[in-house]
Amino acid sequence: MEHVTGLKCTICGKTYNVDEIAYVCPKHGDAGIVDVQYDYDLIASRISRESLAQNGDYTIWRYKPLLPVEPDSPVPPLRVGWTPLYKAPRLAAKLGLQHVWVKDDSVGPTASFKDRASALAVVKAQEAGAEIITTASTGNAAAALAGLSASVGLPAVIFVPKSAPPAKITQHLIYGARVMLVDGSYDDAFELTLKVAKEYGWYNRNTAYNPYMTEGKKTGVYEICEQLAWNAPDCIFVPVGDGCIIGGIHKGLKDLLALGWIDRMPKLMGVQAAGSAPLVDAFERGLQGWEMQPVAAHSVADSIVAGLPRDRNKALAAARETGGAFIAVTDQEILNAIPVVAQNTGVFSEPAAAAAYAGLVKAVAEGLVAPEERVVVMLTGSGLKDIASAMKTVPEPPVITPTLEAVRELLGRA
Ligand SMILES: *Cc1c(COP(=O)(O)O)cnc(C)c1O
Ligand SMILES: [Zn+2]
Repeated sequence: MEHVTGLKCTICGKTYNVDEIAYVCPKHGDAGIVDVQYDYDLIASRISRESLAQNGDYTIWRYKPLLPVEPDSPVPPLRVGWTPLYKAPRLAAKLGLQHVWVKDDSVGPTASFKDRASALAVVKAQEAGAEIITTASTGNAAAALAGLSASVGLPAVIFVPKSAPPAKITQHLIYGARVMLVDGSYDDAFELTLKVAKEYGWYNRNTAYNPYMTEGKKTGVYEICEQLAWNAPDCIFVPVGDGCIIGGIHKGLKDLLALGWIDRMPKLMGVQAAGSAPLVDAFERGLQGWEMQPVAAHSVADSIVAGLPRDRNKALAAARETGGAFIAVTDQEILNAIPVVAQNTGVFSEPAAAAAYAGLVKAVAEGLVAPEERVVVMLTGSGLKDIASAMKTVPEPPVITPTLEAVRELLGRA
């Protein structure tokens, strides 16, 4: 990995060699999340916008020279990445905007944005010669890890809160992962996984502990920019729990600026559920990530429930350094967004994903987005992950006898 020059602590700035530390800055313990540093001159000698235009590999691995993996490392066979970016003129019209796109990551192999990070985790685990990989998760990261691990035959051990939606737990089990349901919160599962992985020597995929997950997630914004012919959008709405996705989007954009492939930094807008909004609070109060305290978090949007967001340093930097913001939306606003997005784009989102759109609605109302701005909304997970929540937003359909009369009666044309 000669294109990776080091791992830099997001708290103290000390930079380590890649083989010096496995996960975090030793001076800061488990909170010392590090950021992967690159030699952009070397990368630019290996990949360009022109070479990409000729590249027929429409997965995240088309950007392999920009990822922290050995050039010849094998990658899992499942097709991850190059998800659709749909123009959404009807959503735009509803909001009085001119240009809105949705990035649909519900179409990945395990139906969420987490496929991007878990694909990288599997490659890194195999590079490290690990025999078992583990993660804590609200559900999707584990589903992605279970699926990607199954694709290469790597055993996975999963720790999720027992309250995770059944569809997600079903994914873990069907992919053959060893599942332990934690009688506690995601934050509890996270702490437990740190201890267990150390005890048993397992490779740890935990978000914002493992420095490489950000790097997998950054591929989402490489795609957005490439799909927009390298004309970066003006602002991007990202649902935020731990803050790894928004941190990854920021990282990806910084990479593209360093390479000169885009010419401006979009505003990054982090959207949290009101019942799990410690980053909104820290943003408004001007706190640094390391000054934040855990809160008791709850929301219908289970994928973004995190009482102490693990990637808080990177998440706050993403909004602050780009002129963006953090926005809170209520559970009712999140639920309302599910059918609106589905009916105006054809994309069915789980609550956490729909939260990004609810955040855009709020941002428009508050004047944070101007009509001519080019806006991308990240739809990070499939609605099929949590049909119980989705069904709260639509009426029960009528049951009818199989006769024309019954239909006529219902349609009021008897
Ligand atoms: C994990 C997840 C998020 C939030 O990502 P973070 O990195 O935790 O901020 C948003 N949407 C979905 C569907 C997710 O699974
Ligand atoms: Zn440090």
